[in-house]
Amino acid sequence: METTTTTRILDGKATAQAVRADVATRVRELRARGVVPGLTVVLVGEDPASQVYVRNKDKAAAEAGFAVKTLRLPATVAQAELERVVDGLNADPAVHGILVQLPLPRGLQVEPVLHRLDPGKDVDGLHPRNVAALWSGERGLVPCTPAGCIELLDRHQVPLEGRRAVVIGRSQLVGKPLAALLLARHATVTVAHSRSRDLAEIAREAEILVAAVGRARLVRGDWVRPGAVVLDVGINRLDDGRLCGDVDFPAALGRAGAITPVPGGVGPMTIAMLLSNTALAAARAAGFSERPAG
Ligand code: NAD
Repeated sequence: METTTTTRILDGKATAQAVRADVATRVRELRARGVVPGLTVVLVGEDPASQVYVRNKDKAAAEAGFAVKTLRLPATVAQAELERVVDGLNADPAVHGILVQLPLPRGLQVEPVLHRLDPGKDVDGLHPRNVAALWSGERGLVPCTPAGCIELLDRHQVPLEGRRAVVIGRSQLVGKPLAALLLARHATVTVAHSRSRDLAEIAREAEILVAAVGRARLVRGDWVRPGAVVLDVGINRLDDGRLCGDVDFPAALGRAGAITPVPGGVGPMTIAMLLSNTALAAARAAGFSERPAG
């Protein structure tokens, strides 16, 4: 079917900048009350992509006024030693947010590390207590990428209540928590995954379509319902070195009502929400009243 919709590009870079400016204001307020919000990133090993992510997080956190530190541990670190490092950060009152950069090098187990985090400092929202809080509607910390997706939609006034949302991908980090957030906002949510049948047909039902898979251009243009809002979470590197998302972006243009580009869509929102979560964790630790994310 030919369509001639003008597709709105949801500019994550500009939106993340706005969120970061709001967070910087909150950090100034916290500092004025004697709290210097502290973020510590734990980086194990030498994974090149992780090094870039951590550098970007450090820079953004420092710019927003956080006291930020990166602990670099060798890939050969023992599990027990890594867990001791987490214990030390849990006990340090100057540290309000702890982020263990994933993936961990081979040989290290992720779960025992995540489970060891103080849930109040778990700014990636992956501790089981935070996962439970998200699904039961209690106060917790929400994973940064799904929180960034919702913030991006909110700041572009995309209504969610009563709308049909399809999330492709069911990871702990993105797909599942995003489904919980959409449900909490009264969308009707379908979660599709690698074993779903008729993926194209499921996708075509979506008024809000999210692709969080990690397969370049899995979502074809004709999977997009005309007028749908498309969030492309995927980050894939093509053979020629360029980045692309999970959605065939050119084919979705003129068909989707709105779409996030890759790069410059959901990615920048993730870092902005990490800062927002850390400010929130610091305010809670100090017993101050909370502000919503963003
Ligand atoms: P993951 O590998 O943990 O999960 C991928 C999910 O996709 C799984 O649930 C799987 O069932 C599903 N899947 C795999 N093949 C499929 C197929 N052919 N059809 C339908 N579903 C399929 O990945 P993740 O951590 O959720 O990340 C997904 C993508 O998002 C990756 O490209 C990752 O780099 C990217 N990502 C981006 C950000 C960001 O800030 N923009 C943050 C996290 C992850």
